[in-house]
Amino acid sequence: MRRQRRSNTAPEVEIRRELHRRGLRYRVNWRPEADLRVRADIAWPRRRLLVFIDGCYWHACPIHGTRPKSNSEWWNAKLAANVARDAQQTNELTARGWTVRRYWEHEDPQSVALDIESLVKRP
Ligand SMILES: [Zn+2]
Repeated sequence: MRRQRRSNTAPEVEIRRELHRRGLRYRVNWRPEADLRVRADIAWPRRRLLVFIDGCYWHACPIHGTRPKSNSEWWNAKLAANVARDAQQTNELTARGWTVRRYWEHEDPQSVALDIESLVKRP
């Protein structure tokens, strides 16, 4: 099974709807760097702001990141690699001057939107 960052998950759509309601406009599933295999879920290129809505399962959320019992060693390694890749991508993008924000899909869409809004609208 391939780890995939799916776009248009329910929490992501809800956050985008909330941002739109607040008058914010953004790019969706946007690739910030041509040489990096990474797409931000929501992006403001001119603000150099990238937002990722991480799925609880694939990104090993500490609250909901349940592990399958069978083949657990393989899964642990797989999910640990995902977490390491997330961190590595965040570091790389930050080093290139991007502001990176990661949220869990379980977070309240209203408060995530509020947080993002304050970043986009900061002077
Ligand atoms: Zn979670």
